[in-house]
Amino acid sequence: MLGRGPSSTGGVNKVPFLAPDVAVVGAGPVGLAIAWRCAARGLRVVVHDPTPGSGASHVAAGMLAPVAEAYFGEQELTGLLTESAGRWPEFAVELTEAAGTDIGYRTEGTLVVGLTADDLAEARRLWAYQQGLGLPVTPLRPSQLREREPALAPRVRGGALAATDHQVDPRRLVPALRLAAERAGAVLVTEPVRRLSDVTAGVTVVAAGCGVAALTGLPVRPVKGQVLRLRAPDGAPPGFRHVIRGYADGEQVYLVPRHSGEVVVGATVEERSDLDVSAGAVLRLLRAAVDLLPEIAEYDLVETSAGLRPGTPDNAPMLGPLPGHPDVLVAAGHHRHGIVLTPVTADLITDLICGGGSSPPLLAPFRPERFANLPGVVAATAVGNTFQPSTEVDSWN
Ligand SMILES: Cc1cc2nc3c(=O)[nH]c(=O)nc-3n(C[C@H](O)[C@H](O)[C@H](O)COP(=O)(O)OP(=O)(O)OC[C@H]3O[C@@H](n4cnc5c(N)ncnc54)[C@H](O)[C@@H]3O)c2cc1C
Repeated sequence: MLGRGPSSTGGVNKVPFLAPDVAVVGAGPVGLAIAWRCAARGLRVVVHDPTPGSGASHVAAGMLAPVAEAYFGEQELTGLLTESAGRWPEFAVELTEAAGTDIGYRTEGTLVVGLTADDLAEARRLWAYQQGLGLPVTPLRPSQLREREPALAPRVRGGALAATDHQVDPRRLVPALRLAAERAGAVLVTEPVRRLSDVTAGVTVVAAGCGVAALTGLPVRPVKGQVLRLRAPDGAPPGFRHVIRGYADGEQVYLVPRHSGEVVVGATVEERSDLDVSAGAVLRLLRAAVDLLPEIAEYDLVETSAGLRPGTPDNAPMLGPLPGHPDVLVAAGHHRHGIVLTPVTADLITDLICGGGSSPPLLAPFRPERFANLPGVVAATAVGNTFQPSTEVDSWN
């Protein structure tokens, strides 16, 4: 196993048994999945988080969309997304069994649609790129679209099916992961970690979402997303089954239907760190959503919220040792993909911990050391076990 091995001294959080093999900082989907996988392999695991599940996952839509989210210039990330999405069916079965709860995993697929001719032209450019990568995108005529989803607006000019882009409900996923981790023996300590040097464990995994910047000095910055939650009338399920992602008069929007009647409509992408919800954002999201699916106008608006995606300079996650600190592993910076990337992240980090020093090849492009030469990172991570973040951290925000 990587790290110093089990120790019998207690950390500041006064864990009431031998110091753990693995301490996970952050009980979002990423941290909890790692905790579950490590505990299931027989390691002693402690998870630290004052408010489990309160990070980005609480507002996330839960799209598992390696195809629709394959963007120009992000080929390595697309490979990781595809790998993780491929692990989702088995992960969902295992987790549902381990936790004994439904996580809202659905496989109807995703329709990507364009409202106007310009919207469709923009969508087609991306499909051409995605098809060039060999990803399964099937263009559909308007009549074929409406056969699949009769509720789509007659104005919709065309679209495509990404059949392998699925969805899960993050508000079910995170409690299920917590239950599975605890059943496997992981212990949750509901206190924050203020400095990594306060944690005593064989290996420390930093999976604290946007909190990773303050703990490590690595360049994780908040990318705000505002989201709406609607509910179909009379407790009925929504009048559509696929995830709908659309371009509507230049606005991008998605609608994610749940069996419960909930529809998640999102999301803005803003380089800021407040959690305010603005009237303008609600207006733009609703207008685009109603343009694509008119019946949405009759739904109840039950929640408006905002969350902070943990972004990185290249939009890809950081997975692996903190530069200069082999006993500290980073699992962070999942940006807009943390839900889809949960299975592969948990497997790779667990393999790294249990693998006797060998690193899974899939991790290579995503090691945090790719940012080690950015100004501020060296300053932040070169202070030994105190892990004081550099004051320059703000310059990445
Ligand atoms: C609007 C929006 C929509 C999204 N939609 C999708 C989607 O459809 N599909 C998808 O794959 N992803 C989506 N995401 C992204 C996804 O939510 C994130 O990538 C994912 O939640 C990251 O998981 P995480 O566990 O790393 O961090 P988080 O979910 O942010 O959890 C971090 C946890 O760490 C804890 N923490 C922080 N600091 C400390 C500390 N010092 N000590 C202890 N604990 C600490 C927090 O309390 C929190 O519980 C979306 C995000 C947003 C904002």
